[in-house]
Amino acid sequence: MQYDTIIVGAGPAGLAAGIYAARGALKVLIIEKGGIGGQIATSWEIENYPGSPPDSTGPGLTERMRQQCEEFGVEFATRTYLRFEQTVSGFIVKTDAGNLETQTIIMATGAEPKLIGCKGEKELRGMGVSYCATCDANFFKGLKVAVIGGGDTALEEALYLTKFASEIIIIHRRDELRGAKILQQRIRENEKISMMLNCVVEEIKGNGQVESIIVKNVVSGECTDVPIDGVFVFVGQKPNSEAFVGQLERDARDYLITDDEMHTNIPGIFAAGDIRRKSLRQVVTATADGAIAAVNVIKYIEERK
Ligand code: NAP
Repeated sequence: MQYDTIIVGAGPAGLAAGIYAARGALKVLIIEKGGIGGQIATSWEIENYPGSPPDSTGPGLTERMRQQCEEFGVEFATRTYLRFEQTVSGFIVKTDAGNLETQTIIMATGAEPKLIGCKGEKELRGMGVSYCATCDANFFKGLKVAVIGGGDTALEEALYLTKFASEIIIIHRRDELRGAKILQQRIRENEKISMMLNCVVEEIKGNGQVESIIVKNVVSGECTDVPIDGVFVFVGQKPNSEAFVGQLERDARDYLITDDEMHTNIPGIFAAGDIRRKSLRQVVTATADGAIAAVNVIKYIEERK
């Protein structure tokens, strides 16, 4: 057998799984189609990962995790995962660069925030454009921010942002919010929050930092240039789970279903991190998932001997 476990995805969940599996004397390969780090690679500062030094960055933190993996003998390969096939002794992992053999697989492919798709959004990501209030709210103390979206996430995060920002404008494309009524009531009662309904963001402007947004009223067609320090986008999230369709069990929102020990519906296949159905998607919960998945991989292999 080529590998004891193949980990798909090199974000914090995959890297933590790599460290734990390799320390458990397994032969481990992490495959990743792009760079190391997953979503956190775009976070400008990490201050809520316990023990991270001041001025920790997403790339810095995950680079250290990658080094730890290598110190324990984890192999890395740049490949795109396609599918798995079950064999008598384990699995064949099919990738764009050929097949690999393994006893077990840990799926850690993560999730991605959906983008608005407007001009300036990608360019200013991490420079005032954020997809995570828990991660970045603290950087907007006393500043004015926009929250895009009208669902539960947008409303909850707008309320969370009131602890930091001085002013929050919710920008929503329809004339009524989608989120729960109780949240809507709290939003309306909060003096820091105002709303621009029937409005979409046409452009995010700024030179190395968000400075303003062009907001278009979809009813009147009128465009307004609104000065703003930050833009929080909450228009939904998309798990990277298309490759598992028909093979692994997903919930109604396409997240992989696991138990608390990270087992999927197929024995020998585990999932960890943001790809899972779970209540909090953070680096600390991703690394915890990775550790639990790896420990259960070790147990699974031991029990099969
Ligand atoms: P969501 O419910 O799908 O809401 C996405 C919001 O973004 C909607 O208001 C949608 O507008 C808007 N939107 C979508 N694409 C857009 C675009 N391109 N430009 C501008 N606006 C756009 O997503 P979510 O808020 O992330 O919630 C996902 C699920 O998790 C929901 O089922 C939600 O109930 C659940 N959730 C529950 C809780 C809780 O119970 N505490 C907390 C968070 C999330 P439209 O309204 O016009 O479609």
